Amino acid sequence: MTVLRKNLIDGEWLGEAGSRNINPSNTDDVVGEYASAGPEEAKQAIAAAKAAFPAWSRSGPLARHAVLKKTSDEIMARKDEIGRSLAREEGKTLAEGVGETIRAAQIFDFFAGETLRLTGELVPSVRPGVGVEMTRDGVGIVGIITPWNFPIAIPAWKIAPALAYGNTIVFKPAELVPESAWTIVDILHRAGLPKGVLNLVMGKGSVVGQAMLDSPDVNAISFTGSVGTGKRVAEASVEHMRKFQLEMGGKNPLVVLDDADLAVAVDCTVNGAYFSTGQRCTASSRLIVTEGIHDRFVEAVKERLDKLVIGDALDAKTQIGPVVDQTQLKQDEDYIAIGRQEGAELAFGGERLERETPGFYLRPALFTGATNAMRISREEIFGPVANVIRVKDYDEALTVANDTPFGLTSGICTTSLKHATHFKRNSEAGMVMVNLPTAGVDFHVPFGGRKGSSYGPREQGRYAMEFYTTVKTAYTFAG
Ligand code: ADP
Repeated sequence: MTVLRKNLIDGEWLGEAGSRNINPSNTDDVVGEYASAGPEEAKQAIAAAKAAFPAWSRSGPLARHAVLKKTSDEIMARKDEIGRSLAREEGKTLAEGVGETIRAAQIFDFFAGETLRLTGELVPSVRPGVGVEMTRDGVGIVGIITPWNFPIAIPAWKIAPALAYGNTIVFKPAELVPESAWTIVDILHRAGLPKGVLNLVMGKGSVVGQAMLDSPDVNAISFTGSVGTGKRVAEASVEHMRKFQLEMGGKNPLVVLDDADLAVAVDCTVNGAYFSTGQRCTASSRLIVTEGIHDRFVEAVKERLDKLVIGDALDAKTQIGPVVDQTQLKQDEDYIAIGRQEGAELAFGGERLERETPGFYLRPALFTGATNAMRISREEIFGPVANVIRVKDYDEALTVANDTPFGLTSGICTTSLKHATHFKRNSEAGMVMVNLPTAGVDFHVPFGGRKGSSYGPREQGRYAMEFYTTVKTAYTFAG
């Protein structure tokens, strides 16, 4: 028996059954039934957030701290159950689902603390007898639009700072993962948020998301998703002169130099390119390898890929779960075909796999002999597919690494301090990793990219304040 999960609008659970959610490890398994909001509900949610803003923005640190801390505590106490449910609806492994849930709890805990650490500045004016204060206010009604690949962590890293800094929210999660979104909203609601402060509108992006973009009452939008939708968010936001923040794609390079520790390089590759089924915007999809280590590296990666257990996300032995849905699977397979047509060699995997239950199983794919000009090296695939690009030396590796329209993360495997230091300084990415996978970041420091990957202030850590607050400069003449 599935329970109908409803939308939360102005403190009330509302809506009729509109969509079903399927487990990608077993398409016979219906995860749940969900209300699907239309433009009217989106408008009601925005109106509720608007009405709730004056009181919430003046609520003070203690009220906000209490809700965020309570939410963190409940998520942590239920981490196994929520993590399992996340793995069931998204297809990442149990360990990844529980890990992501713990991270969401940590994020709420971090921003609970931030409510008590808000500061301003007081400086003397250049005019005698005048004082100048700089303080921060919430931006207002924030629209939060999230993707399916981190069903709980991404909503957490947007909702927690938005609430901590006194904003009210209309939250539209991705269609594929409503269960995790509903769970986090249910917990926040029961933790004591006043009505209208957080509104959940599950539904189609083209309907509910678009209604948020088109509303003059939404003061800021934080978006994570595809480049195409990100551009729509940007255009609509400029039209309404609102603040916006975009996190979009990546085509992240991992450079492996001759002097790398081979075991470290293989670990970084397999983790960064294939864990979470390669469905991370921080995944390493371009493996840029110098000539001296190239053949040894390719052999060692193939050997590791061959040992990976690919299967049902809910089986504790599984290391790589299924692809999230049929559409994404088709995209992965299309790119594998494109790579072959372009002349890259499919050195490992790339074929569909049968398991006990019907699901979207794909063996991780490794291309060799790829060039950086190929479509498979320029466009984000968002699946368990990576290309090896052979280069002469470090200088060529750096040039190739930076030759991309994206700039989210980058990585280098080397034992040379000189090359590691040079790469950290010269890589055109928002986040740079040395002897670590390109994916997998801390929750208390800024997250974001350069070039076509991101737009606007960074997310997470104290830097999140830049987006979720606006500065006021006040002058007082005291005689
Ligand atoms: P993905 O490839 O991750 O599904 P999308 O950009 O399509 O990337 O989706 C990211 C989020 O944007 C989802 O919550 C989706 O529903 C939403 N979305 C899609 N189209 C629109 C739109 N026209 N306006 C606002 N949000 C949208």
